[in-house]
Amino acid sequence: MLYKTARIFQQMSGPLHPNWQKKSEENKKKYQRLLDRPDKNKLLKELPDLHEEAFNQVNCLDCAACCKNYSPRFKTPDIKRISRHLRMKEGTFIDSYLRVDEEGDYVLKSKPCPFLGADNYCSIYDVRPSDCSRFPYTDEDVFFKRPRLTLTNAGFCPIVYVVLQKLVGEEP
Ligand code: SF4
Ligand code: SF4
Repeated sequence: MLYKTARIFQQMSGPLHPNWQKKSEENKKKYQRLLDRPDKNKLLKELPDLHEEAFNQVNCLDCAACCKNYSPRFKTPDIKRISRHLRMKEGTFIDSYLRVDEEGDYVLKSKPCPFLGADNYCSIYDVRPSDCSRFPYTDEDVFFKRPRLTLTNAGFCPIVYVVLQKLVGEEP
């Protein structure tokens, strides 16, 4: 989650539709049809450019919806890396911040993420969980391989919305 890099994001393609979440909901069937298309390899090649364009149009620091409402999974390497960074014992880190979810993964026990600052910066950005650095998967085949996840993300993540709008040939 949150590409909170020091990159300066510029509004290259203008602001999003003011009611983009409603538009995303209305276009859900179109997105579904797109994600079901058999020629996904062709679409996959378009993702890197669309991903870049979406991140130029949307500033994660104005959003933080993912960090406020959802938890990444904390895999063993994530826990090791983050607890070392925080100079905490792994067990103490787990007891302080994590719980086990229905699928057996460690996730945050509270929302918003305790590492999210009031300015929407991530205080552990350089060592954040791998799920956070990969989210919202707009430059990965996961985008097409897990259509239900992509559709869910399109409801709250403007980056996913922008990429899907462009793939269906509409302005975001
Ligand atoms: S929900 Fe999407 S746009 Fe918002 S902060 Fe997360 S990745 Fe960025
Ligand atoms: S660790 Fe927390 S604040 Fe940082 S990117 Fe992940 S969810 Fe967001």
